Amino acid sequence: MRKPFIAGNWKMNNDAKYSAELAAGLAAALKDVTTVDIAVCPTFVYLQTVANALGDSSIKVGAQDVYFESNGAFTGEISTDMLKDVGCTYALIGHSERRHVLGETDEIVNKKLLSVLKSGLLPILCVGELLEEREAKKTTEVVTTQIKAGLASVSAEEMSNITLAYEPVWAIGTGKTATADQAQEVHAMIRKLLAEMYDADTAENVRIQYGGSAKPANTAELMANADVDGLLVGGASLKVEDFAAMIKNVE
Ligand code: PEP
Repeated sequence: MRKPFIAGNWKMNNDAKYSAELAAGLAAALKDVTTVDIAVCPTFVYLQTVANALGDSSIKVGAQDVYFESNGAFTGEISTDMLKDVGCTYALIGHSERRHVLGETDEIVNKKLLSVLKSGLLPILCVGELLEEREAKKTTEVVTTQIKAGLASVSAEEMSNITLAYEPVWAIGTGKTATADQAQEVHAMIRKLLAEMYDADTAENVRIQYGGSAKPANTAELMANADVDGLLVGGASLKVEDFAAMIKNVE
């Protein structure tokens, strides 16, 4: 049985004050939730602020990215040890904005994933197709390539520490959500692929989040799918009432 996992990606939004208020507000609103794993991913500079504001809440902190080297002359980059030092549990890897806006390749994504696994942080590996790729009926091909490349050298045992997030790029921040059927179709395809790459048990146990304009109004429909185990939420994670409503709906 896969425990639902809802994560909020705050992207490059919120100042320190609002980040702390949002975190404290969520901690209060969701204090009794035990049946859903919850994480928030603020920008690097407010990770510590958010971790402090969450206090002993069960809500975990995640980073939006990480670098694959452990230390040294990599100006501007952040290591896994630094993330652990400021209270992170999770790290997003290969978010579509990193792939398509910042030019991150599958090879870089894989290096980051391996370094996160080695550090003991828990990666959330994001994959998803562009609109033109969906229209050209290349969704399966694109997602398969991203998963195979992203998970290169990852063992079946390590898969138990990984969450996958299927995020069709055309649905991120656009207000266009994939239909429940579109999400389920790709999630089922991913699980079948994992069974081929690893084994049936491993595939069955991996949590696959959906991301792309998820909001309170479509949470139930998306989460009703057999292979949708959670959500990666951008815009709707920026307000206590929206994000808390989604989690309570799943609970
Ligand atoms: C995201 O950033 O991963 C995301 C899914 O954003 P939004 O919910 O705003 O589409």
